Amino acid sequence: MTIDVQKSQSPKDKPLDPGALGFGKIFTDHMLLIDYNEGRGWHSARIVPYGPLSLDPATCSFHYGQLIFEGLKAYRTAQGKVVMFRPAQNMKRLNISAKRMCIPQIDEEFALKAIAELVKVEAGWIPDAPGTSLYIRPFIMGTQPFLGVQASESYTFCVILSPSGAYYKGGLARIYVEDNYVRAVRGGTGFAKCAGNYGACLNSQVEAQAQGYAQVLWLDGVERKYIEEVGAMNIFFVIDGQVVTPELSGTILPGITRDSVLEMLRSWEVPAAERKISIQEVSDAYKSGKLQEVFGAGTAAVISPIGELKWGEQIMDIGGGKVGPISQKLYDNLTGIQTCRLPDPFGWVYAVEG
Ligand SMILES: *Cc1c(COP(=O)(O)O)cnc(C)c1O
Repeated sequence: MTIDVQKSQSPKDKPLDPGALGFGKIFTDHMLLIDYNEGRGWHSARIVPYGPLSLDPATCSFHYGQLIFEGLKAYRTAQGKVVMFRPAQNMKRLNISAKRMCIPQIDEEFALKAIAELVKVEAGWIPDAPGTSLYIRPFIMGTQPFLGVQASESYTFCVILSPSGAYYKGGLARIYVEDNYVRAVRGGTGFAKCAGNYGACLNSQVEAQAQGYAQVLWLDGVERKYIEEVGAMNIFFVIDGQVVTPELSGTILPGITRDSVLEMLRSWEVPAAERKISIQEVSDAYKSGKLQEVFGAGTAAVISPIGELKWGEQIMDIGGGKVGPISQKLYDNLTGIQTCRLPDPFGWVYAVEG
């Protein structure tokens, strides 16, 4: 398949102030589209001017949510090169999500090549101030205009790009432990990046934010006892010098940042365990003074240090308002590798040619 490129005739002004970028608010001049039809497969890959999609109101994904997405970043290095961080992992996960949602598999290598092509076209949009990047949002939706509940016969793969600043505005995050609603259940879609997972989280998030908390920490869907993840991030605890993160059990999104954190910790010979961890265990560790650091890990925020957990009536103040040494070291090393300021012993950096 070749990629057709149709250049925009009316490019937008690029934002000048990297401090005002925010996250996911500004979009570039072009987008990538690839169509799928039953019997024909994926076809008509094209880079076209960014703009609204025209879809029939009966389009199945509006009604039944057959829609998956990914999130990754491109960076401009100090040497002026353009790189992406572990993008093949995102393509692999996209196909895992696709399988769960009855969406046809996409050719991972071709999809990555097409994304790299789009990033090349939009290279002028990649900010280079510290903490900034070009956020890449691929998604696939069912497009058949049909109200019967069934897998769509047609799909569109779309990729949009958004120059972005830091996801959270400094400081330590305050997190609300949700002990009523749940995000995912065994056998459900927790491991897939499907749109519906996020819609179902919003009422808890709104409630937490009304109380001054940034995000919700989810507990398991059966006993509401074991920790799962926080917002759109995986979570890590440092207890008595040991790093602990919930094991991948099918209800948690297998984060690429999570995987990178674990690999880095192991390379530094810092003990790191993937296992079940209950909120009671965290509370006990807090009470005995052994809870040293808590942080979230995900593409958007990279490492997000957590300074407070609220579980029912209990408030846990973590780290005395300071970013812990493991959180800081992980942030520095991950962002260093991502922007080629540090060597890449893991082979995580993907160079966008051109
Ligand atoms: C995307 C996502 C993550 C983080 O995954 P990364 O690959 O590290 O960006 C964690 N949890 C949820 C629910 C997510 O959607």
